[in-house]
Amino acid sequence: MNGEARSLLLILVLLVPVGGCSALAVEQGGFNLISLDEEWSMRDELMAQVEEEYELSQDAPMVAYLERIGTRLVAQTTLANRTWTFGIVRDEAVNAFNLPGGLVYVNLGLIKNAETLDQFTAVLGHEIAHGAARHGTQLMTRQMGIGLLGSVLMGDNPSDREKLLAGIVAGGTLSSYGRDAEREADRLGIGFAHGAGFDPDGAVTMFEMLLGLRQGRPSSVERFFSSHPLTEERIAHAKQIAATLPDSPTLIHDTPAYQDFRRRASAASRN
Ligand SMILES: [Zn+2]
Repeated sequence: MNGEARSLLLILVLLVPVGGCSALAVEQGGFNLISLDEEWSMRDELMAQVEEEYELSQDAPMVAYLERIGTRLVAQTTLANRTWTFGIVRDEAVNAFNLPGGLVYVNLGLIKNAETLDQFTAVLGHEIAHGAARHGTQLMTRQMGIGLLGSVLMGDNPSDREKLLAGIVAGGTLSSYGRDAEREADRLGIGFAHGAGFDPDGAVTMFEMLLGLRQGRPSSVERFFSSHPLTEERIAHAKQIAATLPDSPTLIHDTPAYQDFRRRASAASRN
């Protein structure tokens, strides 16, 4: 495709409104030049980059448990009909991340330190919310020139595309979504966890646990805090959201299956 035709196509892409219905507009309202199909077409390449960059757990029961909890949260989003993939990174730092195309990764260090299932679903819900709200591709739209984004969209410059996707996985490109996106991910994530039947107060106790780690073992949460500043305001916001959600005696705080999952994470760390 010549340059002129590509510019014309991009102008046409620009004219297509983002989000077809009002429910989508709430969750995916940010300006985005990358369609959902284009986003999901990056999955295989991004997963291959993740496998190069990180050591992933091969513990099938652990991955199956993560998938089960993750799928339950994804069912609360408007992208539940898409394929999502969950992976466990063999890293002791307390961290989790989302990549475009429904990819969600959690570190062993997070699993070990999230004391109860509702704390764990708070973080998982937050990462799924980044994906459901499409913060990754919105950020790509903002950060990249139309030329570079064009080569990703059209796939007509494979080496640019590979470099770009490798940069995303290496953490340089999408390491910080910005304050508004984090706030939105907190709000949506707490809602997803509650909708899936988990106690939304887990978000508050998770933040308290993280603050404790920052005092005791600051290096373990350094990466997490660099992309997710934990301010008084953020904790107050989480409390406020959790308080507005209807309480129910059936909300899940913790389960024996989650504690098995944590034990396996601790055993894996010692190996
Ligand atoms: Zn976040």
